[in-house]
Amino acid sequence: MSAILPFCVSDSKVFSIATMETIDNYIDGKIVPPASGSYLDNFEPAMGEVYSLIADSGERDVENAVAAAKDAFAGWSTTPAEERFEVMMRIVALIERDLDALALAESVDNGKTLAIAKRLDIPRAASNFRFYATAAMHIANESHETTQAGGVQALNYTLRQPLGVVGCISPWNLPLYLFTWKIAPAIAAGCTVVAKPSEVTPMTAFMLAKLCIEAGLPPGVLNIVHGTGPKVGAAIVPHKDVKAISFTGGTKTGEEIAKVAGPMFKKLSLELGGKNPNIIFADCNYEQALAETRRAAFANQGEICLCGSRIFVERPIYERFKADFVADVSRLKVGDPLEADTDVGAIVSKQHFDKIMSYIELAKAEGGTILCGGNAVDLTAKTETRPVGSVPTRRLGGWYIEPTVIEGLGHDCRTNQEEIFGPVATIMPFDTEDEVITWANSVRYGLSATVWTENLSRAHRVAAKIESGIVWVNCWLLRDLRTPFGGVKDSGVGREGGFEALRFFTEEKNVCVKLSEPPA
Ligand code: NAD
Repeated sequence: MSAILPFCVSDSKVFSIATMETIDNYIDGKIVPPASGSYLDNFEPAMGEVYSLIADSGERDVENAVAAAKDAFAGWSTTPAEERFEVMMRIVALIERDLDALALAESVDNGKTLAIAKRLDIPRAASNFRFYATAAMHIANESHETTQAGGVQALNYTLRQPLGVVGCISPWNLPLYLFTWKIAPAIAAGCTVVAKPSEVTPMTAFMLAKLCIEAGLPPGVLNIVHGTGPKVGAAIVPHKDVKAISFTGGTKTGEEIAKVAGPMFKKLSLELGGKNPNIIFADCNYEQALAETRRAAFANQGEICLCGSRIFVERPIYERFKADFVADVSRLKVGDPLEADTDVGAIVSKQHFDKIMSYIELAKAEGGTILCGGNAVDLTAKTETRPVGSVPTRRLGGWYIEPTVIEGLGHDCRTNQEEIFGPVATIMPFDTEDEVITWANSVRYGLSATVWTENLSRAHRVAAKIESGIVWVNCWLLRDLRTPFGGVKDSGVGREGGFEALRFFTEEKNVCVKLSEPPA
């Protein structure tokens, strides 16, 4: 465990609100309370109880953050790339130093297992900064030598200039991972940032603010304003000095943001919802397909935008695959996110828990058969004896749902069309390649897809026909940060990752220099 454990994981019966950690804003290089002086409850999903308080910020805080970012822009945008690289690499080192504390905080704040936070979320946050720190040193501009009829010659070159102040808004499912995925390219490109993490999972962004101070990131380069979407997010988006919005979250919110930012001609990057197909042909590597399908459906409680929640299995292996899959899924352990052998942790909030449960009821009403799961899990009887902070015992009164597999639904019912974003997957047999492609593409979303086959031509053929931004063949969530990341249809607009993200945060300018006159 590292030196910082910035919160007390508290049983609210033991600790009064007055002793709770408060999550404040990071504006102009300082940790500051919200202008309103008021705070929102921050829940620990495993316990179902408030364990810290989050700044309930609003327009005035956003105004201060934008002003700080605006002041910092002239200096930061002209800071040599090597210096930007160095300060970003110091942030990487600090994230890695505090990996244990950050992972614990992420698990407590989100309900995800500590194991996944340690293995995936926090290392990826460090990788995001590392990747874009180095990218800042390598971004290059094109030039074009122009020769026109008659002998006029010119040199055209492209300047890529940082946009200015940009807004970054992120969701709760991969909190620090997705927050840094936006911030790192923005500051690497020379922009200054006003960022808003999800109010549901604000803790690691708050910890990151302290690490940025420690790393010596100049004041105002990154500003973090905590609070709700309607108050903070809705103040960032229309702000006249915010030149671009990089948003990850639900499709409905993306639509609201686009309605405001579109008419203002702001640059927009929208990473939205998904309802991803997982297509399993009879000639697949069976064991791999089985294991990865389980992971793709239930990793992080199914709360990953890339989760494969619609499983299509070719008929010759359908019954066998279904039986093995259900047996495997039934063995997943739902439990305390902090325990090493827990596979499925807590659902992030009561509101989200209710939404998932309502979809299980909908699936039944639509004629689905629950093959396994389907129920909430009550762990309140289980008293934890593991001491956390000074609290010796804790009651797991939070929100848990059994991993659920549903059969017997058509591809076009609501359960198979709408994003559930929880530990719920449907399984369906198919007969032909054309049929399964039609079904896979029948949703409004198009984020990712997985195809399992040992037939090379079919793999390429299907990958080309699937309407999604990413297709994994014989794998899932195998990521390379250089690749373009994003969705088609209602899953989003624009691409993150690689140089795409750096380009998003810059404006291209063509400079044309005439070199020679035509011969007289
Ligand atoms: P959400 O849309 O409710 O919230 C996302 C962020 O937007 C939060 O910080 C929220 O406070 C803010 N927000 C809400 N209303 C706003 C407004 N009017 N103006 C500006 N900001 C506002 O999403 P969520 O519930 O936090 O996250 C789950 C969703 O995110 C799922 O749909 C999931 O698929 C999607 N997601 C997509 C990706 C991707 O890369 N495509 C990755 C992760 C999650």
